Amino acid sequence: MPCVPPALRLTIDLDALVANWRWLAARSGAAACGAAVKADGYGVGAARVAAALARAGCRTLFVATWAEAEALLPLPHGMTLRVLHGVSEAELPFAARGGAVPVLNTPAQVARWRAAAPDRPCDLMVDTGMNRLGLAPGEIGLADGLSVEVVHSHLACADEPDHVLNARQLAAFRALDVRGARRSLANSAGICLGPDYAFDLTRPGIALYGGVQHADMAEAIRPVVGIEAQIVQLRDVPAGETIGYGATASGPMRIAVLNLGYADGYLRGFSGGAGAALVEGRPRPVVGRVSMDLTAIDATGTALREGDWVTIDFDLPRAAARSGLSQYELLTGLGARYQRAYR
Ligand SMILES: *Cc1c(COP(=O)(O)O)cnc(C)c1O
Repeated sequence: MPCVPPALRLTIDLDALVANWRWLAARSGAAACGAAVKADGYGVGAARVAAALARAGCRTLFVATWAEAEALLPLPHGMTLRVLHGVSEAELPFAARGGAVPVLNTPAQVARWRAAAPDRPCDLMVDTGMNRLGLAPGEIGLADGLSVEVVHSHLACADEPDHVLNARQLAAFRALDVRGARRSLANSAGICLGPDYAFDLTRPGIALYGGVQHADMAEAIRPVVGIEAQIVQLRDVPAGETIGYGATASGPMRIAVLNLGYADGYLRGFSGGAGAALVEGRPRPVVGRVSMDLTAIDATGTALREGDWVTIDFDLPRAAARSGLSQYELLTGLGARYQRAYR
């Protein structure tokens, strides 16, 4: 264990995460509600998320690859893990041991599973119009004889409730002959499209972590992730002098220089007032350009001192709108220099 304390913290509110899951589970109606924990739980920490959700009653987790599955195993008691990208030749020896269930996406993956582990459970992903991963609807029969537990599809435009593709994909999914398997279509935003989209199992990700992808979520979904950065230096910049790379801002101004930069996923889209810290309850805008390891904020009139910690405004919908990044990018881009503090 390192003994030098980091100058950058991620605070993670697991109670808020569990509350978000319960809301999504209630909105899923009779369908079971799972949880996407790929990309290390959207940057939050997949193992901690899994443990918290297991206590809340969640039974189904999703990761992208078998490397992610291996990192997460063994699972909390009573949970199953499903691997969205199916199984490659290189992953097969590990996958065939069980421990997690592949979601098979291609005829080659189906054939591979049949040859290696025909009696072990698998899922299928069927493409209903997104044209990313999945079997064509007419290829479901290739899996006949395998123990297919869930047939999945994925929505391309669930975060746009009025998009024509939603109803079209729903109709295509309903029309599939799934031969008695359970069905799963909805991600976070899909859950908010209405009960028709829930089927037997839902697969929320971003909303668990505080992402807002539908108007109904704005009031209900609680923030989970907070950023706290330490001040390295305070500086009074006189009139006529400039601040930071590119000299894009100027004095007179008192600034606080924070231990936070684009190497931490606080990208340059927050430059020039797009981002802010919350100091004494008020937003203090980012001044000049975000650099690799440092970001300046306007500290004029504050009592901030060297070594103080400030909270970054990381409200996901607002930060996304202001930085031009998606809420997904904001979470999954958070770097390795944070100390994760769970509360
Ligand atoms: C990532 C993912 C999800 C979760 O999506 P969110 O938009 O984060 O809720 C669900 N299903 C599949 C297939 C995914 O890849």
